[in-house]
Amino acid sequence: MQTTIVGYPRLGAQRELKKYTEQYFRGEITQAELLQSAAKLREAQWLLQKQKGLAISPVNDFSFYDNLLDMAFLLKVIPARYQELGLSALDTYFAMARGYQDSSGSAGQNVRALKMRKWFNTNYHYLVPEIEGGIGSEIQADKLWQECSAAEKLGLNYRPALIGPYTFLRLSLNKSAQSLDTLAAELAAAYGAILTGLARYSCEYVQLDEPALVLDLTADDSALFEQIYLPLLAQKRGQKILLQTYFGDIRDIYAKVSGLGFDALGLDLVEGGRGNLELLEKYGFPADKKLYAGLVNGKNIWLNDYQKSLAVLGRLDKLLPRERLVLSTSCSLLHVPYSVRYERKLAEKYKRRLAFAEEKLAELSALKMLAENPDPAILQRNQEIIWAGQNDPDFLNRQVREQARQAAAAEIARQPIFAARQPEQQKQLNLPWLPTTTIGSFPQTAEVRAWRKAYKQGQLTAAEYQERLKGKIKEVIARQEELGLDVLVHGEYERNDMVEYFGEHLQGFVFTENGWVQSYGTRGVKPPLIFGDVARPAAFTVEWIKYAQSLTARPVKGMLTGPITILNWSFPREDIPLAEIAYQIALAIQAEVLDLEKNGIKIIQIDEAALREKLPLRRADWQRDYLAWAVKAFRLTHYLVKPETQIHTHMCYSELADISATLKALDADVLTVEAARSDWTLLAALADYDKYIGPGIYDVHSPRVPAVEELAGILEKMCAQLAADQLWVNPDCGLKTRAEAETTASLRNLVAAAVLVREKISLPFSPKQVK
Ligand code: GLN
Ligand code: ZN
Repeated sequence: MQTTIVGYPRLGAQRELKKYTEQYFRGEITQAELLQSAAKLREAQWLLQKQKGLAISPVNDFSFYDNLLDMAFLLKVIPARYQELGLSALDTYFAMARGYQDSSGSAGQNVRALKMRKWFNTNYHYLVPEIEGGIGSEIQADKLWQECSAAEKLGLNYRPALIGPYTFLRLSLNKSAQSLDTLAAELAAAYGAILTGLARYSCEYVQLDEPALVLDLTADDSALFEQIYLPLLAQKRGQKILLQTYFGDIRDIYAKVSGLGFDALGLDLVEGGRGNLELLEKYGFPADKKLYAGLVNGKNIWLNDYQKSLAVLGRLDKLLPRERLVLSTSCSLLHVPYSVRYERKLAEKYKRRLAFAEEKLAELSALKMLAENPDPAILQRNQEIIWAGQNDPDFLNRQVREQARQAAAAEIARQPIFAARQPEQQKQLNLPWLPTTTIGSFPQTAEVRAWRKAYKQGQLTAAEYQERLKGKIKEVIARQEELGLDVLVHGEYERNDMVEYFGEHLQGFVFTENGWVQSYGTRGVKPPLIFGDVARPAAFTVEWIKYAQSLTARPVKGMLTGPITILNWSFPREDIPLAEIAYQIALAIQAEVLDLEKNGIKIIQIDEAALREKLPLRRADWQRDYLAWAVKAFRLTHYLVKPETQIHTHMCYSELADISATLKALDADVLTVEAARSDWTLLAALADYDKYIGPGIYDVHSPRVPAVEELAGILEKMCAQLAADQLWVNPDCGLKTRAEAETTASLRNLVAAAVLVREKISLPFSPKQVK
């Protein structure tokens, strides 16, 4: 039995690649220096993989920015606007990734980046290729050839990995006049050229990643897949092809794929475990192929449960001989941090339950060893560690468990319904129609960040730090009053991150020092780990909000992060269902909501920026596997408030049409959403929204200050499409990353626009009940 992985992280264990690349962006190092540093980093990783016992290493899993972008570049799917810049190959690549602005400011040299989208159900983002013309058969694969040569020089047993043509096509934007049939034929020819080029190398296999096969596939989709692959497989030049899938099972195409001329099939036996095993057992595994069995989880950070993995191997043993089996990861290890080795502050009882990328390499070797020669002592030790936390008071909270289970069984609905509580809220708040507000954060200046750093390093006492932040709150309240905003915020100066701040104040969360995971390009995130039962030892937002409210007669919003967003941006434990974790977090947030209310806060916003992110990849699973409990968890946070307390929620994406029923079911009184960034295309999807709604009227991702007339025009358009007395007026999202001056100017215009439209359209001053 051999061992391999689907892919490895590439930012570097100490985020070296991030540093080099950003140095290159700032012009501090040359292109040659960047390329050389990256090559060294890759080599070191290959050697590490070998040293940890991996039989075959993937190459070309490395990327300077993103693998789909790499593929677009290799296939010369490069929109004219980038080619026209006349840059070097690498700079053209980076222009596609990040956009391009000529510092000399000459017109026509200002080009936007490719669109970015979330990679399936992960927190990684890919760049969306734009097919403008056709796809020629001429390729520019220097990066691929160089990586193969380098691996060969090291005497490595390697396998080039590429995103496959079907997934490439499915995730690209077709702006050309070409039909899918034509593009399919062109892609087959272009990938054929890659195979021809690879024939010069000694690698036995080529890996083509086709994660799009785990999506819902229609008969047309399967036909398209075949249309690309039949001619491509006919062009094989001696090398073998591994069709690699991940993030789920391939129920819609397994039977077809088994009959095609692939030499190996890679299946995710973790996330797609149940489904893929059932398929294997139902249809059998073809005798002419190898199976790359994804047994080590590439998406989560817990120790492999060897007993479970061996049980799966036992089932596979009935289907194929071990010579045709390769032990692998469920997906690329891109989605986990580098190594537990770098965690110096984490207590041993946490550390020993973790397996990051490097530890997963060792796990593959251990699994192979155990499969060949089961060692009861190792198995027992593995079980002991995995279950050791069961009664540790840092992990176990019986009361929370019980409450979460009760919530799971109960009907959770706020009373009375919106139509009845809305007049109570209006009586208490006395807001004009088209009320103006912001999403929560105000610019986090260098000064604020420096205070936080000084506080964390012990150079500022807690009292000093708080005093300074209170100073900022005082400033921002005065500024909002001066601007004439109707509903104020405290600015979120105490938060570095909307999830981290909450995790830090809740039991059950653990933070790493170096657990970085690539989010996109050179950006990493450090998700908290949910180790144990979640509980809130004490209120942690109330003092800030109470202070802000004490400074003004206008309502200040309590500002909380919702349970689903906290869950989705963390590494969740796996010993209880996700729904139960969500209910536990929801109960903690509920306690905070009720404390805010008790302290006189009349409006509470519970952000669910990431609600949509973990929607199951298959529509049939949306409700049962996710939305049903996600909605319930959100309702659990607020259903006990008084009728006159107004609940807001906020979301930062515009694809709302397919979850419009869910939005209603959340039962928040006011929903603010990103809309400007997507040119208000979502307004149609909101037509039947039944409560207050604030589609953003300007994009917060740009420093541009929108003019009053422009904003008023947008508002009027919104008033025409939705009920005018249903609307709130706000930006797309928080203002944390903006500069102070442009923020003040934009908000001044936002308020002026609302005033203008209020005067223009005469409605009763007090909003009537919305639908
Ligand atoms: N309240 C948060 C803020 O204003 C919301 C952030 C977000 O939606 N991503 O920053
Ligand atoms: Zn947002």
